[in-house]
Amino acid sequence: MPGKARGKDEYASARKRLDDERQELLAASRGLVADSRALAEAPGAPGSDDADVATDVLAEEIAQSLKWRVDQNLAEVERALESLAAGTYGRCEDCGGKIDPARLEARPTARRCLACQQRAELYERRGRHSRAA
Ligand SMILES: [Zn+2]
Repeated sequence: MPGKARGKDEYASARKRLDDERQELLAASRGLVADSRALAEAPGAPGSDDADVATDVLAEEIAQSLKWRVDQNLAEVERALESLAAGTYGRCEDCGGKIDPARLEARPTARRCLACQQRAELYERRGRHSRAA
């Protein structure tokens, strides 16, 4: 069985996936901006009534919430790429431990090890104001 540990290239596939995902998200983000602009600038059809206006507003709201989600994902991907460049990728940002490679495989933007992620989600659910030191 050939040894697969190659040090520097450890995260090569993660980098590739993050790069690809970044391109897709950027394209999606641009597309959504174009869509909502087209909607906003579209002249009202002759005899357009309130129902058409409501549909336009709804479509624009959907486009905006989609864009928000795309932008959130994009921010996560860019943060992961930055940590790759800085050499901190694959380290849990809470405990500093190494994140399980299988976890990174499933979710290349993971910033915490599983234990810290679960703890963080527990805090979120319990409410941000009652966080114990
Ligand atoms: Zn951790």
